[in-house]
Amino acid sequence: MPGYNHLFIPGPTNIPEEVRMAMNVSMQDMRAPDFPELTKPLFEKLAKLFRNSTGRVFLYPSSGTGAWEAAIQNTLSPGDKVLMSRFGQFSHLWVDMAQRFGLDVDVIDCEWGTGVPVEKYAEKLKADSAHEIKAVFATHNETATGVSSDIKGVRRALDDANHPALLMVDGVSSIGSIEFDQDAWGVDCAVSGSQKGFMLPAGLGILSVSKWALDAHKRAEYSRTFFSFEDMIATNDQGFFPYTPATQLLRGLDVACDMLIDEGLENVWARHNRLATGVRKAVDAWGLSLCAKEPKWHSDTVSAIMVPEDKDARDVISTAYSKYNTSLGTGLSKVMGKVFRIGHLGWLNEGMVTTAVSVAEMSMIENGFDIKAGSGVGAAIEHFTSTTAQSGKAI
Ligand code: PLP
Repeated sequence: MPGYNHLFIPGPTNIPEEVRMAMNVSMQDMRAPDFPELTKPLFEKLAKLFRNSTGRVFLYPSSGTGAWEAAIQNTLSPGDKVLMSRFGQFSHLWVDMAQRFGLDVDVIDCEWGTGVPVEKYAEKLKADSAHEIKAVFATHNETATGVSSDIKGVRRALDDANHPALLMVDGVSSIGSIEFDQDAWGVDCAVSGSQKGFMLPAGLGILSVSKWALDAHKRAEYSRTFFSFEDMIATNDQGFFPYTPATQLLRGLDVACDMLIDEGLENVWARHNRLATGVRKAVDAWGLSLCAKEPKWHSDTVSAIMVPEDKDARDVISTAYSKYNTSLGTGLSKVMGKVFRIGHLGWLNEGMVTTAVSVAEMSMIENGFDIKAGSGVGAAIEHFTSTTAQSGKAI
């Protein structure tokens, strides 16, 4: 089809040209004496982006799922009690992994469209005076439902209960896009991947760990090889890896980190809020609702848009793809057919978001939705033209 294919799934995201060019290099020797000139500053840049001043960041040639696994294996022991919650496909998958690892999982099931139940976590932590719970897990941004959760609140619940459990956070679709502060929120293991806020292809699992997670590692009894912190530390300290690293991805990541640092994290977060608000204005104007039940759950990286009961969201996605060369995100598992998703994270601006909104609008109209042409696009445009690009606040 002529013209660009527009990618508005919530990861992989669009890759900036600078990042793509940085990866277009010949293969290099990952044991060359000058290789650490790339890797050592890269580890520092990543720690800066996670706001991790006490621990370190590990980079695995895996996807985000690998970093989930690395976090469990390196800090916990078989049979450990952990507290988790499930309210979407990705929080479900992390629970499933923990169960398959043989952890004793206390899982709180919540309605899809809501997020981490901070009050329930607080009650459970207060009641656990023997400190049997070894780790508390929280999915910061549930990509399947477009729900962001209050990680600061989870830390407060731990502190109020004077509880030493580790705080494990899935930030795969939040870190590098919306507010995240590992130091201030006391996050012990922060999991991410390369293909969302970091604007790269999939292929790197990124795990940022606190000093307390590194201490817990000394007591953790799972056996591990590929994801072993020891093996990583022994080689990373010299600027190398225990096995063949994905050198092109590291080159790209270096440039992506520079771009995020140059823009400024607060500006990155404000940009995502502004773009997401434009999408939410369109959804209101269409007379539709988000899967996220309340504004406090609204995600600034992905909107899961509910279609009326007599419609199938897959038709909207299919028309967008086959007729308008545009990829929208599908509904996963329980919400398949009920939602389509617009990913609005990464290397993105107003014009791109307006394209996503206009293609969604055209596809809905063609599938018989009762929507006035231009209504959603108009609402998004009105938002963008009445707010500033930098702060995201109304002029
Ligand atoms: N967690 C969340 C919130 C995700 O959105 C995803 C992927 O979309 C994952 C975990 C799994 O990451 P990956 O597909 O990189 O393994």
